[in-house]
Amino acid sequence: MLLINNSNPEYKAYVKDFIYGTNWRWKWKKDEIVDLQCYCPICDSVLVYDESSCHTRYTDVAKTDFICENCKSQIVTSIHGGNKKYAFNAVKREIERKIRTNEYKTTKSE
Ligand SMILES: [Zn+2]
Repeated sequence: MLLINNSNPEYKAYVKDFIYGTNWRWKWKKDEIVDLQCYCPICDSVLVYDESSCHTRYTDVAKTDFICENCKSQIVTSIHGGNKKYAFNAVKREIERKIRTNEYKTTKSE
């Protein structure tokens, strides 16, 4: 992970954000994002995911749906392009991008 070489990195206080239509929280282990988890923006439940479209042979429709079972199993958001692993990596990339550009400092996470 390419981040700023800094012994006291400010970004370690950055542990939640609204990305791709839902809330995400994570922890830092050294300079790595761990325990990345998504939450419903309405009720704050942990979302479940459905990557079943990735198992079809139509790979151009591959996406992962994030579903809140507490909100009548509504799809909260869909991340297109791949399975759950892909979606989580996409979110990590977005987090890292926001850190690189210092955008995270202006993000209102509440
Ligand atoms: Zn919900």
